Amino acid sequence: MPKFSYHIEGGSDFAALRKNMVANQIAARGVEDVRVLDSMGSIPREVFVRSDYVHAAYQDRALPIGHDQTISQPYIVALMTEALQLKGSERALEIGTGSGYQTAVLSRLAKEVFTVERLKRLSETARSNVAKIGGCNVTFIVGDGTMGACAYSPFDAIIVTAASPGVPQPLVDQLAPFGRLVIPVGEMGSQELLRVTKDEKGEVYTEELLPVVFVPLIGEHGWRTSLDSPEE
Ligand code: SAH
Repeated sequence: MPKFSYHIEGGSDFAALRKNMVANQIAARGVEDVRVLDSMGSIPREVFVRSDYVHAAYQDRALPIGHDQTISQPYIVALMTEALQLKGSERALEIGTGSGYQTAVLSRLAKEVFTVERLKRLSETARSNVAKIGGCNVTFIVGDGTMGACAYSPFDAIIVTAASPGVPQPLVDQLAPFGRLVIPVGEMGSQELLRVTKDEKGEVYTEELLPVVFVPLIGEHGWRTSLDSPEE
C-alpha cells in the first residue's frame, strides 16, 4: 500500500492512480529497484504539477510547469533514479530542480540532496512543494548547474534533468570515486541518456541507456543560448 493517500474535493483517488502508474508505466517497463518503486508509489505527484494539470498528474507523459519547462514523464524519472543505484547513504546532486518532483524522489532515496535550478521562481515553488511532502534533507540552490555545486562536492550521484550538448566537466570533477552521473546528451530535440561512472582511480566510463527528449540545459557548460537573460 502507498504510504500516502491523497484526496481532493470531488473524490479523485490519487492513491489508486499512483499505484497504477507504478505498476503499468514503471514496473511493467522493467524498473525493478524496489526503493524506487516504493518512493514513487508514495509521493503525491499531483502536488508537483500546475493546478490546471492536476487531472493529468499520473498520465504517461511530461507536463508543462510554466516558464517553458516540464515535469518529466514518470517512467523517465524512475529509470534515471534507478540508474543512480542509490542505497540511502549518498550525497546526491540534481541539476534542473523544475517542479521538485525528481528532487522529492531523491530525498527519499539518498541521505542528502542538493538541487540546482536556473530559474528562481521554479526553485521557490519546488521548495514549497518538497516541504509539503516533508523532504527535510534537501538544499535548494539557484544558479547555473552546469558548474555543479563545488562547495558541497564530492557527490556519490549526480542527475541532470535537462539536455546537454556534452558532459559538463565540472560535474565529472565533482563526482566521488565510484560515483554515478546520469545525463541526457545530444542535440536540442533528441538525446541519449548516459551514465558516467567514476572508478576508484578517477577514471570514467560511459554507458548509453536510452534515447530521450529533454528541455535544454542552458549554461556555461551546456547550451549557451539566452545566457544573457535568464527569465525569472
Ligand atoms: N527534474 C524536473 C525537470 C525539470 S525540466 C522535474 O521533475 O520537474 C529541466 C529544468 O532544468 C528546468 O526547470 C530548467 O529551468 C532547468 N535548467 C536548465 N538549465 C539549467 C542550468 N544550467 N542549471 C540549473 N537548472 C537548469
